[in-house]
Amino acid sequence: MPLYENYQSPWLNDELRILADACQKFFQAEFVPRNEAWIKQGKVDREAWNKAGEAGLLCAALPEKYGGGGGDYRHETVVMEEQFRAGISGFGNQVHSSIVVPYLYHYGSEEQRMRWLPKMASGEMVGAIAMTEPNTGSDLQAIRTTAIRDGDEYVINGAKTYITNGQHADLVIVVAKTDPQLGAKGISLVVVETANNTGFERGRNLTKLGQKSADTSELFFQDCRVPLNNRLGDEEGKGFVQLMQQLPQERLSIAQAGIVCAERAIELTLDFVRERKAFGQRVLDFQNTRFKLAEAKTEALIGRTFVDQCLTRHLRGELDAATASMAKYWCTQKQCEIIDECLQLHGGAGYMDEYEISRLYADARVQKIYGGTNEIMKELIGRTLG
Ligand SMILES: Cc1cc2nc3c(=O)[nH]c(=O)nc-3n(C[C@H](O)[C@H](O)[C@H](O)COP(=O)(O)OP(=O)(O)OC[C@H]3O[C@@H](n4cnc5c(N)ncnc54)[C@H](O)[C@@H]3O)c2cc1C
Repeated sequence: MPLYENYQSPWLNDELRILADACQKFFQAEFVPRNEAWIKQGKVDREAWNKAGEAGLLCAALPEKYGGGGGDYRHETVVMEEQFRAGISGFGNQVHSSIVVPYLYHYGSEEQRMRWLPKMASGEMVGAIAMTEPNTGSDLQAIRTTAIRDGDEYVINGAKTYITNGQHADLVIVVAKTDPQLGAKGISLVVVETANNTGFERGRNLTKLGQKSADTSELFFQDCRVPLNNRLGDEEGKGFVQLMQQLPQERLSIAQAGIVCAERAIELTLDFVRERKAFGQRVLDFQNTRFKLAEAKTEALIGRTFVDQCLTRHLRGELDAATASMAKYWCTQKQCEIIDECLQLHGGAGYMDEYEISRLYADARVQKIYGGTNEIMKELIGRTLG
């Protein structure tokens, strides 16, 4: 039974439903059986990327000319939603396909596109983006990593941390200062291909509260040399603007993931409270349970309609930074609140790893932190208040 009796995302059509069905089958057959092992080892197997590439699940929105699926952001959304519905939180395709690839596509030259995008689509290359540093995250202008010209190369020096896909990454978009004297205007995006690059080193794969099968890493650059034409964009100093242009999609994607996970939590909880008995009745029959789940379902549906509206605006190129920030802040806040209530309704079982709700709870927490913290989201929304 669908969670909402009378609501369907307006952008869904038959073609996208077929894609959703194919994704569901793929994730159940190929990823779900391996998920426990991935959680234990702290990362997915490298071959997961090639399998997803073969199945056509990477770069769904990228034009076919570059090896992509030839779809649009709806297709990315469908792949992402089915991944989370299958309970796979650690496969970093959201970063790879919905964040890294758009930078390469929008700001890359034709030569750069042809060099990298087909490999990103096949899974031959895994992508990461490295903004955050040990000493700065929210205050991106304060980054210390530099990319200084030396002949026809950039020499990159610095350290990054908390980088999703860091252990597997073959291509890292490094946010670096090409002119350290300037603030935001001195920032550029420089691509590092990690293979055989002696100046690049992976640090620890950091252990975390949740999303345990996602590799989240330290990365080090010590006299790391890349050709000048690995910079994205015609000019130096455009990195900050490029980031600001692309962040709304990243934030929408996080908001959408938040809503899918909240919906999943409600479904799991409904299954549980329909079966579980206390004081001679089903847990669902307590008025408190019905009220809590009524609130959760209402809020999830409000979130769902909001992200659907944002998606429609995004497809038209009209999703502004403040609205994307509202979606990211509100949906991830509600995700955490809803999952907390759902866990409570499971009683002790909710705290046990063997119940998916406990994983959803641990996985959710970071959603309020990455992609720009929710405090930064409120700052961005606040700027529209005059
Ligand atoms: C699992 C995970 C995956 C990640 N993946 C990536 C990745 O792939 N690439 C990448 O570059 N980064 C990644 N990050 C980093 C993430 O984006 C940063 O952690 C985040 O932006 C916050 O930066 P920070 O940790 O330096 O916190 P800080 O900026 O030090 O913030 C600390 C606290 O101060 C608050 N604060 C800061 N400035 C303000 C302000 N102006 N007003 C009010 N409050 C403020 C923050 O909201 C926060 O509560 C990831 C992080 C995690 C945990």
